[in-house]
Amino acid sequence: MLDRAARLRQLSEVDQDLIRLVQDPRFGRWVDQITATGGCAHPIHLSGSTTTRDTATGEILHHYDTRDEPGERLLIRCRNRRATVCAPCSRLHAGDTFHLVRAGLVGGKTIPTDVRERPRLFATLTAPGFGPVHRATADGARCRPRRNAGTCDHGRPLGCPAVHGPADPLVGQPLCPGCYDYTAHVLWHAHAGRLWKAFTDNLYNHLAARLGRTRSGLRRTLRISYAKVAEYQKRAAVRVHAVVRLDGPAGPIDPPPPWATADVLATVVGTAAAAVRLRTPYTPALGEHELRWGTELDVRPLRAFGGREGLADDAVAAYVAKYVTKGAADTSAGLDHRINGPDDIAAAPVSAHVRALMGSCWRLGGVPELEPLHLRAWAHTLGYRGYILTKSRAYSTTYAALRTERADHERDRAQLADDAAMATDAHWRYVGSGHTPGAALIANGIAEDLAINREVARDELRGRGGCQ
Ligand SMILES: [Zn+2]
Ligand SMILES: [Zn+2]
Ligand SMILES: [Zn+2]
Repeated sequence: MLDRAARLRQLSEVDQDLIRLVQDPRFGRWVDQITATGGCAHPIHLSGSTTTRDTATGEILHHYDTRDEPGERLLIRCRNRRATVCAPCSRLHAGDTFHLVRAGLVGGKTIPTDVRERPRLFATLTAPGFGPVHRATADGARCRPRRNAGTCDHGRPLGCPAVHGPADPLVGQPLCPGCYDYTAHVLWHAHAGRLWKAFTDNLYNHLAARLGRTRSGLRRTLRISYAKVAEYQKRAAVRVHAVVRLDGPAGPIDPPPPWATADVLATVVGTAAAAVRLRTPYTPALGEHELRWGTELDVRPLRAFGGREGLADDAVAAYVAKYVTKGAADTSAGLDHRINGPDDIAAAPVSAHVRALMGSCWRLGGVPELEPLHLRAWAHTLGYRGYILTKSRAYSTTYAALRTERADHERDRAQLADDAAMATDAHWRYVGSGHTPGAALIANGIAEDLAINREVARDELRGRGGCQ
């Protein structure tokens, strides 16, 4: 018969780790912590303490110290937005994004419900073409049919008679990488933030011009608010989906003048995007590039309050929320982490096209005149250095406010409470992250249970004829 140590050696690393965890007398408390993080896949470990005193009497109202916790640490969520990195945190982030965008459309979360009566629309702005790429078609049409197509200077066909399904890895890849303008693509990404700024400036200027007013005169009568999300298309070019709303000068609490209708807004979004022209910094080798938005502009009205036409508010909020959780694994968005050099690019698990874009970022990042674009630091996102979701100040609530609201809601469980009438003395430090193999298995199980519970609760609500 084998002794205990020999039997343990026969167990896998995961099994051994599970036994260690379950035998820990504080296993129950550890499960509570994992449950409080929603089963986060890569929790942050903190060590420290918080002491809350009554400011008047100095009496200790609450004391919390991780010395009493399993492993002497507190686990908190990683808050990664990508579903491929952490599914539970990504779900939470998608939920916050949904509420943030929705509040700007229908009110709630400190935004008045009057906003639903404001002129609003949903617009998609796209990058221009940088060279022909293979494309999926909905109706079984050919990719790029060309009679007597001939070949390019690199000897590759100028057309493609194939029919590509949406999952075909060729979709989004250039017909000829030699002809594709990688420099223009990367420089466009690096200026995407300025292109958006120029677009919103044009919105004000074009509205002012329509009314024969100055821009500052216009600003005294209305304000443009927006929330936008960046999405990488299959061709690895960023496109921007935006909710745009017109308010009065004071923001959400204030209606715009009656002439500022949804139709006027739709017209001006079209002319404002088409008029944007920027120039890249001049370099002796590259000269200057002119930057503009692509001609493919989609402007859709949102359903007016009580109306039937146009996109529904909840559908738009859900659409935007879906984009913020997309990760590198299911898109052409590059990598989740910074790149340290050409070796990293060569080893990156991405398509040849995305690798070529990273290579262009690295190469152009070494050009002195382009230094301000920080192309090497942003090679992993293909030169784009914006956030995935951005909004104007007056559009809606913030992620921080939504998190605070959740913390308030969970005050009973939150050990890190603070209050204006109390003095809090807190000392925290980072001591690690992630899970051991056995802990990862348990956390995953807890995350799945929580997801199932949520679905059951939703089904019950539906069954009762509640909201959908
Ligand atoms: Zn997480
Ligand atoms: Zn093709
Ligand atoms: Zn070519």
